[in-house]
Amino acid sequence: MNEAKAARYQRLRRRADVVSAAAGIVVLAVFGLTPLGASLAAWTAGAAAETSARWRSLAEVVVFVAVLAAVLEVLALPVVIYLGISLDRRFKRADTSVGGLVFAQLHAGAVGVAVAVVGGVVVHVSARLAGAAWWLLTGVALSAALAAAVRGVSSLIARSGAAAALQDPALTARLARLSADAGVPVAGIFEWREHGHEEQTASVTGFGRGRRVLIAPDVLRDWSQDEIAVVVAHELSHHKHHDLIQALMLDALLLSSALAVADLALRSAGAAARELPSLPLIALVAGGVWLAATPARHALSRWQERRADQFALALTGHAEAFVAAVRRLGALHLAEDRPSAVTRWLFHHHPSVDERLAMAERR
Ligand SMILES: [Zn+2]
Repeated sequence: MNEAKAARYQRLRRRADVVSAAAGIVVLAVFGLTPLGASLAAWTAGAAAETSARWRSLAEVVVFVAVLAAVLEVLALPVVIYLGISLDRRFKRADTSVGGLVFAQLHAGAVGVAVAVVGGVVVHVSARLAGAAWWLLTGVALSAALAAAVRGVSSLIARSGAAAALQDPALTARLARLSADAGVPVAGIFEWREHGHEEQTASVTGFGRGRRVLIAPDVLRDWSQDEIAVVVAHELSHHKHHDLIQALMLDALLLSSALAVADLALRSAGAAARELPSLPLIALVAGGVWLAATPARHALSRWQERRADQFALALTGHAEAFVAAVRRLGALHLAEDRPSAVTRWLFHHHPSVDERLAMAERR
């Protein structure tokens, strides 16, 4: 994959992301800032009229948010189809079918609607329980839910992804030694059961006694042992330094701040969090603050990635294998060697390929 093609691919992907976010902002603005939100709320009240008085307000929130989220998902569909067909087919895979993409998007859309409904219910219940401090209770509850979900998914991947113990005794012994040297105990080293993600390489996933090293079959076949060791050492660093917990703590802080700003906006509009038409406005303002904080979240991630690279180099001492692995990963993800500063700040969780290679050279 040459650099120009990678740059074009990444540019088109970013454009699709921006269009998708813009569609969300427009939908939320239309329902949050025009009488359409109140109309939808009135229709919702009619639809939930049959529910018993005790559960009615909750039923209204569920219906209101589900309709809003469904409208958003339907509008996002063409963008996703565009991304899937014109990008992945043009640049990477030849097996992307429209049916498969629509199915994948319906699945993702259903998850999106469910997440939005949970968010709406949490705001509503928080407003009833905590009154003016709704934003704080919402921030704490959603952050706890996010942490639980991340932990659950990681444990699930650790369990379901482990196909079979690694067949190669030399590599197994070497990686076990590596994790002991890193001070990160692992329960086992496994071949990664494939789920059709051709980008998966090696991962350390799960927590405590359930933590496992997973390595994709392609990597076991094609990569040298030194390269595999370097990538696993990088992953071990994320566990050793509690990078996930740090990231979740920053997210919790940003989420609560974003909700506090949404509360200010509601107050100045003379609205209350427990009123249905306030929900799109809360999502719009809090979502805007969250998006604006993207550079801070990415900066933390890039700092953690640089630390993991340095840790991997120090632990293994294999600068050449590190360079080879970074090049392989860059090709796999169609990474740009030298992205612009704006692109880095807005879109990149990882240091660029050039930065990572320069770091290895300095050692
Ligand atoms: Zn990493």
